[in-house]
Amino acid sequence: MTGKDIMMVSSGDDQKNVVPPWLRPIASIKLYDFCETHSSKECNFYCRVCMVAMCKECKTQHDLSKHEVMKAYKFDRAASFRMKDLEPLWDIYDICSYNKNGWLVVVIHKRGDGIAHSHGQSDAGECECCQYRLKSPSTKYCSVECKVEALMKMKESESMKNEAKRKAETISEGSSSSVHSFRKRARKQKNPQRAPLY
Ligand SMILES: [Zn+2]
Ligand SMILES: [Zn+2]
Ligand SMILES: [Zn+2]
Repeated sequence: MTGKDIMMVSSGDDQKNVVPPWLRPIASIKLYDFCETHSSKECNFYCRVCMVAMCKECKTQHDLSKHEVMKAYKFDRAASFRMKDLEPLWDIYDICSYNKNGWLVVVIHKRGDGIAHSHGQSDAGECECCQYRLKSPSTKYCSVECKVEALMKMKESESMKNEAKRKAETISEGSSSSVHSFRKRARKQKNPQRAPLY
């Protein structure tokens, strides 16, 4: 499976629900570890071409090859990207953002542990992926990783659905029960409150 194929078939509104290939491995990217080559330097850059975290020294080589490199910033001991860097590349409006020294940032990695904490408190939402308490009720995800994970799951169940459909069509008496169960999973149970569009 290649990411390009998925990018090609989708269009229009669908586009924002597509995870760019360079964000797919984001869960396993270790930012702020020390560089293996330059042991005193932290890896606070992410190359979108090589899909690796790297330090400032390593970055110069990627710059020479004209790779697109993003800088990560520490927020609350977590790695984050600036919204202004991510915005042109991906729809991140449903990811919770924070103010860091006047810049809006979104946290890169999952913040919650999958356990709901906010029973009874209605104003703030929870991350749809990991149940982390969100400051802003108009957002759905606590982090880039959570949105990536959620969309990939959706995509997966969608393609499995299509696969099942294809099978059912060719065999014509395929079991349709599994198709329905996927559909159920892919759909959101309840819509969180959203801020009015403007
Ligand atoms: Zn690179
Ligand atoms: Zn390095
Ligand atoms: Zn989350």
